[in-house]
Amino acid sequence: MGAVDEVKQKIDIVEVIGKDVTLVKAGRTFKGLCPFHSEKNPSFYVYPEQQSWHCFGCNNGGDVFSFIMKKQNIDFGEALRQLAQKAGVVVPTRFEPGMESEEKQRLYQVNQAAAQYFHNLLLNSPAAKKAQDYIAKRGFSEQTIKDFQLGYSLESWEALKKYLLERDYTEKELTTAGLIIEAEGKKPHDRFRNKLMFPIFDVRGRVTGFGGRALDDSLPKYTNSPQTPLFDKSGTLYGINLARDAVREQDAAIIVEGYMDVITAHQSGFKNVVASMGTAVTEKQVNILKRLSKEMIFALDADAAGAEAMLRVEQTSTEALGEDILPVHYRNMIVTFTNVPDIEVKVIILPHGKDPDDVIKEDLKTWKNLVAAAVPIVDYTFDMVTSGLELTTAKGKSSAADKLLPIIDDIKDNVRKAHYLQKLAGLLSVSERDLEADLARIRPRQVRRQGRAPETKAASVRPLVSSPKEEYCLALLLQHPKLKRQDEGLLPEHFENSENREIFIACQRSAKIETIRKKLEPAIHEHLDSLATRSLLSNELEQKYAQCALELREKFYRSLEMKIKTVLALEAQTGGTAAELAKLKELGTEVGSQLGKVRAQKIRRRLKQRE
Ligand SMILES: [Zn+2]
Repeated sequence: MGAVDEVKQKIDIVEVIGKDVTLVKAGRTFKGLCPFHSEKNPSFYVYPEQQSWHCFGCNNGGDVFSFIMKKQNIDFGEALRQLAQKAGVVVPTRFEPGMESEEKQRLYQVNQAAAQYFHNLLLNSPAAKKAQDYIAKRGFSEQTIKDFQLGYSLESWEALKKYLLERDYTEKELTTAGLIIEAEGKKPHDRFRNKLMFPIFDVRGRVTGFGGRALDDSLPKYTNSPQTPLFDKSGTLYGINLARDAVREQDAAIIVEGYMDVITAHQSGFKNVVASMGTAVTEKQVNILKRLSKEMIFALDADAAGAEAMLRVEQTSTEALGEDILPVHYRNMIVTFTNVPDIEVKVIILPHGKDPDDVIKEDLKTWKNLVAAAVPIVDYTFDMVTSGLELTTAKGKSSAADKLLPIIDDIKDNVRKAHYLQKLAGLLSVSERDLEADLARIRPRQVRRQGRAPETKAASVRPLVSSPKEEYCLALLLQHPKLKRQDEGLLPEHFENSENREIFIACQRSAKIETIRKKLEPAIHEHLDSLATRSLLSNELEQKYAQCALELREKFYRSLEMKIKTVLALEAQTGGTAAELAKLKELGTEVGSQLGKVRAQKIRRRLKQRE
């Protein structure tokens, strides 16, 4: 099964949309206020059985992918990666390692050229005065500036662009590398202007992207490269190229948040430090580190590590993922902790209000001691939970057990699990056997909770809604591009399946399979190939295509009609307002007439064939 199907099976559309829209159950559907147009009465519906959604106000609809794409204004690939991460599905990346295309090589080169250009400006240009002052204030040495290839981008719309075009890079390459921005109606211009530049390297020391820091009060303070074929923020660790060997030698990686923290740490001799790019630490990042060491130490500031925050983790992780409420660090740890069992995750708690940069600058010893005193995340959680409780009282004991047992139950290594069970029993002065009984008692709740975790997702697999008509139509178009000249009124929205929709769109723009392939996410390649190689009879192609397109349109309108009917029946029952009912009825009539047209066309075709 392909990654797309796997994601669909593991993701519940109601749960996903429910994060953005307050949904109320209505019969076999859920309804809410449409996020795509403004309205007072809900006309936005989610259909769990079809795993689809539709808004009768603005007439948008589709599957879970199209919802995310529209809501966040992102492309299919990005939506897929987001949902895949949620579902714990591995999605093939656009460029497989080892299979480095010439195109990709060019992008590395253009990035390297840009980094060199910025670096030279910082070292030599009078225009870089502000950046030079800033760096001096930070106390970065010449060696550090060189090691990290720090740079400066001029306050100009075209300086970098001109420089690189003169060196025979194309505008398209610059855009693809994220170095220039194509704004509508304007000339493409430099993305980074008047910024202190931090080139971002991969583990092999190649420049994949850039971070830029504003040198005045302008916001945002930091600008990063966008997602490109080389740069994926979620799979990037700042400083990894310089930290790699140290992480291996010291068998531990320290993860901090900012560029400055990394640079200061390295300059002070702590070379096993990397930054998580200011986002939640992702499994991709953990996987990079895992190859170097099995110990990861998170540096947390005291505020984010507050006891209250910990309790919020407890509540939200049992109910929903609660991504918006949680401090990033905690989410990181929970993710890391539950998804990658064979690593040791520790935490360092920084003094109140300070980041690693401050701590190291003030006193190297403090930092050293902090690192030496890093505690395993489970022990840390024990401390956090129990510090606010009166453990001599029955109430305090049961409260501690309630909060800590689920965490113990999550530990996959049995020896460690037993260790923490013992620890808890000791803390509460109760027998381990009692705790084990409690553990068994909380399991039903646990199962529900873990139903959201990747490993056990399979328990709630949804049947795939297959769409043979969509696929047949696409197979025809892919194998016989000439058919595209025959206008059968097919539109992208007639394809309910997002991956089919993507293929249809790519197919409209190009006839060659190879070009279409390049335009599509690798996760859809398998599906594309199966359509492109499906065996089809090659007689009466035009008729077959016409027929199939008609049927597809019919299917689209029929499904819409069905949805309207469901909603009408529901609204009539629950006393929807007259205006709403009228609007729906009107829409129903419109769809009905479209359907009528399609059917008439079908009949005409049949008659013609008989002639
Ligand atoms: Zn709407």
